[in-house]
Amino acid sequence: MQIRNVVLLSHQGAGKTSLTESMLFTSGAIQRLGSVDDGTATSDYDPLEAERHMGINLSLLPFEWQGTKLNLIDTPGYADFIGEVRSGLRVTEGAIIVVCAASGVEVGTEQIWGDAEKANLPRFIFVNKMDRDNADFFSTLEGIQAKLSPRCLPLQLPIGSQSDFQGIVDLVTMKAYIGTALNEAEIPSTLQEQAAASREKLVEAAVEIDDELINKYLEGEAINNEEISAAIKKSTIAGKLVPVFVGSALQAIGIQRLLDGVCHYLPSPEERDALVAKNVSTGDQEEIRSSSESPFTSIVFKTSADPYVGKLSYFRVYSGVISSNSQVWNANKNSMERIGQLFTMLGKNQQPVPQVAAGDIGVVARLTLTTTGDTLCAREHSVIFEGIEFPQANFSMAIQPQTKTDLDKMSTVLPRICEEDPSLQTRREPDTKEFIISGVGDSHLEIVREKMRRKFGVEVKLDLPKIPYKETVTVSTKAEYKHKKQTGGHGQYGHVFLDVEPLPRGAGFEFAEKIFGGAIPQNYIPSVGKGVNEAKQEGVLAGYPVVDMKVTLYDGSFHSVDSSDIAFKIAAAQALKKGLSQGQPVLLEPIMNLTITVPETCTGDIASDLNTKRGRLLGMSPRDGINIIQAQAPYAELLRYAIDLRSITQGRGDFVMEFDHYEEVPAHLTQKVTEEKKTSKVG
Ligand code: GDP
Repeated sequence: MQIRNVVLLSHQGAGKTSLTESMLFTSGAIQRLGSVDDGTATSDYDPLEAERHMGINLSLLPFEWQGTKLNLIDTPGYADFIGEVRSGLRVTEGAIIVVCAASGVEVGTEQIWGDAEKANLPRFIFVNKMDRDNADFFSTLEGIQAKLSPRCLPLQLPIGSQSDFQGIVDLVTMKAYIGTALNEAEIPSTLQEQAAASREKLVEAAVEIDDELINKYLEGEAINNEEISAAIKKSTIAGKLVPVFVGSALQAIGIQRLLDGVCHYLPSPEERDALVAKNVSTGDQEEIRSSSESPFTSIVFKTSADPYVGKLSYFRVYSGVISSNSQVWNANKNSMERIGQLFTMLGKNQQPVPQVAAGDIGVVARLTLTTTGDTLCAREHSVIFEGIEFPQANFSMAIQPQTKTDLDKMSTVLPRICEEDPSLQTRREPDTKEFIISGVGDSHLEIVREKMRRKFGVEVKLDLPKIPYKETVTVSTKAEYKHKKQTGGHGQYGHVFLDVEPLPRGAGFEFAEKIFGGAIPQNYIPSVGKGVNEAKQEGVLAGYPVVDMKVTLYDGSFHSVDSSDIAFKIAAAQALKKGLSQGQPVLLEPIMNLTITVPETCTGDIASDLNTKRGRLLGMSPRDGINIIQAQAPYAELLRYAIDLRSITQGRGDFVMEFDHYEEVPAHLTQKVTEEKKTSKVG
C-alpha cells in the first residue's frame, strides 16, 4: 500500500487538532466527530491536553484514504513544545501548515514555516475556519504570500465565506465541491472569472518545473489536467510551489479534497531524496533508500512514559521490515534490543500489527536502552542516522518536593519524564543546594509539574532558582577575639588575632598562620582553621559564603588548663565575623557569558533589552541576515531570558549561557538582596 507521512503544523489554535479529527472522521477511521472544545478529540488524548484544549505532545494518527495509508502527525502549536515539532518534521515527507482564515499568519506560523524550510519539507497550506466570523480568504492569502512566500498559490478558492461558506472550487479540475459531499458541481457563475485567473497563475507557476511543458504553455498548446497535476506534484516536492487549500475543519468542508491533495501532490517515502546515514563499520556516509528489500533501518523519534503501559517508543522505518517478537540492533547504544508486540497507534489506542515495513511508522513497548533519536537497524548492517535536533533547555526552575514521600518518588519519576522529553534537563546546584529542572519555557515546566502530579502522584513546587551570591571584603583589617568562660570546673579559653585581606576576584580562599614564639600551641592551629572555615560559610551581609579572601592567624594566647580545640574554634569564628564586618563587605553575583543568535533586524532591540538587564555587549558578527551577539550580564537578570528573548524576536532567537565570573553587586541593589535573604530566612 502507498504511504504518506504528513505532519500538521500551526500556531496554537489555528485548528490542527480539529482538522485531524475531521480527516479521521471523513476517512471513516472514527465514527463520531470529536471536538477539542469538549475534550473528545482523538489526538488530544492526554487528560492534560483535553483539559487545556491544547496539544502538548505529538500524536500519531494513521488512517486510510482511497487505498493510501496516511500517517498523520499532529504537533503542539505552542513554542514551548517545539521539540515535538522537530521530531514530527524529521520523520515525515510532507507538511500541512494550518492558518486561520480570520487571524491569518501569526508569529507561530512564521516560526514553523522557518522550521519546515530548514527541513526542506514539501508542504501545503490549509486556510481553515472559513465558516468563522471575520474569515477572509483573500486577505489571509495576501498575508501568506507577503510573510511566508510568494510561492504559496491557491489550488482552491472558497465558495462564500463566514456563515455563507458553502464549499470550494478546485482549480485543477475546475469543479465545485459543495458541503461535505464528494459530488462535483459546476463553478458558480460569480466565481468563474476569478477561478480562471487563479488557475492561470497556478498553471504558469507549475509548468516551470518541466521544460517541455513550458514550451507547450508558451506556444499556447492545451495542457491537460494530468499534466498539470504531475507538474504541481513535481514543483511541490522541489519546494518551488506551496499549494494553498481552503475549508472548515469544524464543518468538514474541503477535507476530502485536502486528503486527495495529500495523495496526489505530496511525495511517498520513495519519492523523497534518500537519507544519509553513517555506516558504523566503514565510517563512511551512505544513502538509505526507502525499500522493504534492503536491510532494516529506522529512527526512534518519540518516547513516552506511561504509568501503566510503561515506555513506548515510536519509530519510523526507512528501509527493510521489522517484525513483532524479534531482535534489532541499537547502533547508538551498541546493543541488541528485544522487540515484543509491534503496534500502530490511533491517539491513545494501540492496534497490534505483525510487522512494520519501509516508509511506515510503528510503536513498540518496553525497549530497555533505546532513547529518542537512536537508530535501530539490522545488526549485520549497522548505520547511524543523524539524531533529532532538540531545542536548548534554557529556562530553569528550582523543583521542590512537598513531602518526604514526594522527594523519594521524584528521584524515580523525573528520569522517566526526562527520557520522554529530550528538551528537559535536571541537575543539582551545589551552591544553593537546589534541584534545578531546565526546559524550553515556563509552560513546558508547568506541564512537567502537572504530569508528575497526575500521572505519578508526586507533588512538587516550582520557583525561580536562587542566585548563588557570594560575599567578600574590600579592605584589609585586623580582628581580635578572646573566648573566655568560667563555668564551674573546667573553663574555656581561646584567643586569636587575625589578619583579613581581600584577594583578587576568582582567587578563592586562603588560610595561613604566622605564630611566633608559641603564642598558640601548634595543636590548636587546625581548630582555628576550622573556626574560620565554618564562619566564612555565612557572611555578615546576607549570610552568603565568603570568597576571595586571605585570613592569617598572627597572634593570640592560651591557657594551660582551660584552652581546648573547641574554645579556639569559637574564638576564630567570632574573630572572623568581626573582621568581615570591619572589612567593608560587599556582595558578589555571578556574571554569565551570553551568545545570542537572532535575525539581524532584532539587534537594536536585543541591545536595548540587555541595557535594562545591566548587560554589556562584547561583540557582534552579522552574517546572512543573522547576528551572533556576544554579551555578558548578571545571572540575576537572566532568569527569564528564554521567555524575554522569545518575545523580543518573536521566537526567532536562540542563546547559550555559561557562567563566567563573579562581580560586585552595585550598591543600590545590595540592600534589596540582603533584605530578600532575611525575609526568606524568617519565612
Ligand atoms: P490547534 O491548537 O491548532 O490544535 O487548534 P484546535 O483544533 O484545538 O482548535 C482551536 C479552536 O478553534 C477550537 O475552539 C476549535 O473549535 C476552533 N476551530 C477549529 N477549526 C475550526 C473551524 O473550521 N471553524 C471554526 N469556526 N472553528 C474552528
